[in-house]
Amino acid sequence: MEARSARSSARAKMLREMELETDGLIEACFGVDPNPSNEITRHAAVCSTSKRQRSATRDKMARVLEDETNALIEGAFGQQSNYNVLTRNPSDDIAHGEDSVQIQRTDSAGGSLLEEDVDDAEGRNIWKSFSNKYKKALLERQMEKEIDEIDDNSGQEREATEHNEVTAVANYDETIRLVTDLRKCFGDHGITQSAQKDILALFRSRGFPDLPNSRVIMNSQSVSHLIQNCSNGQMYYFGIAQGVRRTVTSEYLAKCTRIDLDFSTDGLSPYKSVKRKVWPILCRLSATDFSWESVPFLVSVFCGKTDPLPAEFLKDFVCEAKDLETSGIKINGVRYEVYIKKFIADQPARAKLKCVNGEGPNSLVQCERCTIIGKHSDRITHFSRTEVRLSQPTLRTDETFRRRLQPSYHKQDDSPLLALNIDMVFSFPYDPMHVLYVGIVKRLWDYLVEIKGAIYHITKKKITEISEFINQELKYQIPSDFSRSIRGLDCYKLFKATEWRRFLLYDGILIFKKFMQRGCYKNFLLLSCAVRILSIPEYVKDRRLMSDAQRMLEIFVVDCEQKFGKNFLTIKMHSLTHIVKDVEIHGPLDSFSAFPFESYLSRINKSMRSHGRCIEQIVGRVREGYLLQPIPVVMRSPSRPQPVLTCEVTSSSSEGKREYLKASLPDIIIRADRMRDSIFKTYDGAVVRVTGILQDSDLNEVVVVGYKFLLSSDFFHSPLRSKVVGIEKVSRMDSLQSHWRIQDIKCKCVLMLYKSSPKEWLCIPMMHDSGVLQSAG
Ligand SMILES: [Zn+2]
Repeated sequence: MEARSARSSARAKMLREMELETDGLIEACFGVDPNPSNEITRHAAVCSTSKRQRSATRDKMARVLEDETNALIEGAFGQQSNYNVLTRNPSDDIAHGEDSVQIQRTDSAGGSLLEEDVDDAEGRNIWKSFSNKYKKALLERQMEKEIDEIDDNSGQEREATEHNEVTAVANYDETIRLVTDLRKCFGDHGITQSAQKDILALFRSRGFPDLPNSRVIMNSQSVSHLIQNCSNGQMYYFGIAQGVRRTVTSEYLAKCTRIDLDFSTDGLSPYKSVKRKVWPILCRLSATDFSWESVPFLVSVFCGKTDPLPAEFLKDFVCEAKDLETSGIKINGVRYEVYIKKFIADQPARAKLKCVNGEGPNSLVQCERCTIIGKHSDRITHFSRTEVRLSQPTLRTDETFRRRLQPSYHKQDDSPLLALNIDMVFSFPYDPMHVLYVGIVKRLWDYLVEIKGAIYHITKKKITEISEFINQELKYQIPSDFSRSIRGLDCYKLFKATEWRRFLLYDGILIFKKFMQRGCYKNFLLLSCAVRILSIPEYVKDRRLMSDAQRMLEIFVVDCEQKFGKNFLTIKMHSLTHIVKDVEIHGPLDSFSAFPFESYLSRINKSMRSHGRCIEQIVGRVREGYLLQPIPVVMRSPSRPQPVLTCEVTSSSSEGKREYLKASLPDIIIRADRMRDSIFKTYDGAVVRVTGILQDSDLNEVVVVGYKFLLSSDFFHSPLRSKVVGIEKVSRMDSLQSHWRIQDIKCKCVLMLYKSSPKEWLCIPMMHDSGVLQSAG
């Protein structure tokens, strides 16, 4: 027993020492800082030293290595253990391999044992770790030797040697370029380690013999020492400033005098069978007017068996954010002011950040904008008109929040975010993805389908009928720009947020009109029109339309209470009455939707390949570039760039014009051969069906040819005239062809057949400036 514990402590000691030893060893030989222990850096150091120097270091390294090896083996397993390091031919072996060296131990009977023969797991791990370290050091020695060999083969003269050193460096440069490209490619596509190994082997056999192994390429190294332990899990802090520096471009800095940031957080449960919570904090450059697009980056990540405690979770974040608020950020020698604009999160995450009572039966005070007190019945807390009357709510402000004027709303501890210069009420907008699309729209449909006695109940037969209509007709009319293709409402339970969004803003209007009762359709239109106004930048600037949206949402809430009862009015429904104010402050709904963050969260989820060591895996993926790709902010130009034309029609080139079927612009695709991708609205209001795309090479101009619809009228008149929000009924296509410049096109439209004889279509302009269409959420 005693001997066993002695052995175990010796092993622990060895593991600790081994880290230090290897780095020390390499530093002693090459005199470079081992941290970051990047083999490429060391390789460069090897290349830059003279041949003689290298020869001396090689000898030194060999001696040190041998001594160290013996000492390590002795330290770990005692003098009695008979461990040997086997190499096939250590001095000549340049097989890059890990396979060229093996650690062997002789047992008491004199027979030899290999790694797989060791009986306990711990012993095997130590063995493995040790032999990896040794192999790595050996590999370095081999790399260095290879360069020497190139020198040797090219002649003995000094001039010749110098010339060849230049050749070796040039080869090295090529290898470095290849390594950079491979790292990006492996990271982008999440290529597995075994596939990476095979790909590298191919390159090695085809002219890149000294490519390092995949671990070195992906820069994966132990991060355990950088992970902080907290009371119920572990955390890793990447930082805000370094992410911002990686994201901004000179083009962005030239246009912006200050840097506005949005943050987001949410809890993930990556595994079905193991209880594990992952909470990342994400950040991106805030863009209210959609003039640029910025991909989120990771600021920190927590992993534990339960949710993190706000004080620990936000400690490093608040510390850095505060520093950025006071001192700004220095980029290329210029100091920029930093403002924290908003936190985009779902309701439970917002409650966690603000340390207030969230959704749930235990709390009657849930509204983040006013002091309304809800009522609890049938396991639901509802906020009906009676409650509004009884509690006479007042609106919250940053000041009333900080002074905790409604104590029952706040948790015992103060939010760490109070230290920041933010509005504790309005810096936390109601995110439309959670509140509207998977919140209210889904709940409305759930209610219509599931509550049997309810007014406007939808029977199973009707759902089948609607699904058939979708699968047989609508499916071929919805443009291909949406990330998910439309599917029948029989599988509505599986719908994602983007599908509910499309349903609310586009196809739902036709489905409700065709299949639902009039009262239900009118109720749906109130929500659909209000959300359309709140989503389009041009409408958001229109005060009259904004007050119309507020009015429509208020009527929608009252209407729902009358039709579906008080229990329908959960906190999300009540939030609708406050959402217009959020749009007034932060801009159109999509500027504070969680869609881009949600896409990034699903990337994090996918990045975890095995159950254990969550945090190490995430940090590893970030270092490999899979999660922290340096994607700079993309600026949008106010005018449309020239489209990329493909699918040329070869038969009909006439008068110096070439005809194409497909034109791709950053936000839309035009396809002349496909009805659903060929409908556009021009700036002068015409709805056009494009049948050809011509390029005039003399004028360097692209024109589209097609037919416009001659008749247009309102599709509905209540709650407002549909044409006010761009929705119209069109019919009678012109028999004469016309043409338009590509700059005349305002937007693409969804065109759905409403009546077949005479043919009438419902035409709804698409919103392109949102970045939501491509979202995976
Ligand atoms: Zn309220």
